[in-house]
Amino acid sequence: MSWQQRLDDALAARREKGQFRQRRVNEQSEARTLQIGGSRYLNFSANDYLGLSRDPDIVSAWQQGAERYGVGAGGSGHVTGYHLAQAELEQQLADWLGYPRALVFISGFAANQAVIAALLAKNDHIFADKLAHASLLEAAAMSPATLRRFAHNQPAALEKLLASPGEGETLIVTEGVFSMDGDSAPLAKLHQLSQLHGGWLMVDDAHGIGTTGEQGRGSCWQQQVKPELLVVTFGKAFGLSGAAILCEQPTADYLLQFARHLIYSTAMPPAQAFALQAALLRIQQGDDLRQRLQNNIAHFREGAQALGLDLLPSATAIQPLIVGEEHQALALAESLRQRGLWVTAIRPPTVPPGTARLRITLSAAHRADDIQQLLEGLHHASRQ
Ligand SMILES: *Cc1c(COP(=O)(O)O)cnc(C)c1O
Repeated sequence: MSWQQRLDDALAARREKGQFRQRRVNEQSEARTLQIGGSRYLNFSANDYLGLSRDPDIVSAWQQGAERYGVGAGGSGHVTGYHLAQAELEQQLADWLGYPRALVFISGFAANQAVIAALLAKNDHIFADKLAHASLLEAAAMSPATLRRFAHNQPAALEKLLASPGEGETLIVTEGVFSMDGDSAPLAKLHQLSQLHGGWLMVDDAHGIGTTGEQGRGSCWQQQVKPELLVVTFGKAFGLSGAAILCEQPTADYLLQFARHLIYSTAMPPAQAFALQAALLRIQQGDDLRQRLQNNIAHFREGAQALGLDLLPSATAIQPLIVGEEHQALALAESLRQRGLWVTAIRPPTVPPGTARLRITLSAAHRADDIQQLLEGLHHASRQ
């Protein structure tokens, strides 16, 4: 079979299953709204949970950072790309979250790949929640360790898997707040199990950091758990992009030797690290934003329950509405679009078959009136 034929077949198979993915150009957006194809919509698809992507202080910090440091790091952090702005950011993150060290990565995807690839060896075992993010599961599958997945948020299922001990080290992997279901992991129980088996716990808190816990310190702080490896990302509540791993001193030193995504890749632009410092400050002082987000979540859930909609038990900004079949989810999303509401349908293979859904995300930037419009839209669309 030729390359051409292989690609054609794969594309045809995707189209047949109704799973063909297409990007749309976002012509203009701020936290509440976006413009696509010349039309404006209320945006219920973004991960900009606190509305910081347009925060004037953070935008101006990025501009100042660019003037001070230029727009690029100029190299890998192992050469000369490790700038003062990034070093300061790492120190601030470590102090904020109560770890000795933080290492900044260019993205959450890169951080997860790098950490798992650098740490795991043959004979090791990774136990990952079934719904863990693709960046975690893929890294685990590609590593020489044995990957076993446990039923979502069920420590008892993990306990069973742990009962048959093997050689090598054990790593337990979960998210803090799950990106597709919006629910929180039972971190204390998972950490207890991992400690009992001499393992480490790795928590990816992409969706918890900034939105929950005192000063926005996230799911682990909120649940009083300190995993050996904590990944936080900056593309969600922080409103920018990038990520960091929080860990002990020797782990950080080890990753600096063996994490290839740090060694062989250009470091984060220092202007961005400077802007991230401003975002961190806003998050630390962001009780007002977190309160607004909580109000919007409560407003939405009360309204949706009154309409009899099938919501998952999520207390977070991620409010999935389970629809079932893919075509139903797509039709519902399309009908909402016609009412000026942008909501993304999430389909297999991103979520299990039969659980196609609308992934509704709320932000502190939404106004009460926006939530009301969403509820009215759902009311009309779901009756069609
Ligand atoms: C978004 C996300 C990532 C990827 O982070 P990026 O910085 O966007 O690459 C990793 N893990 C989880 C759970 C996520 O939701």
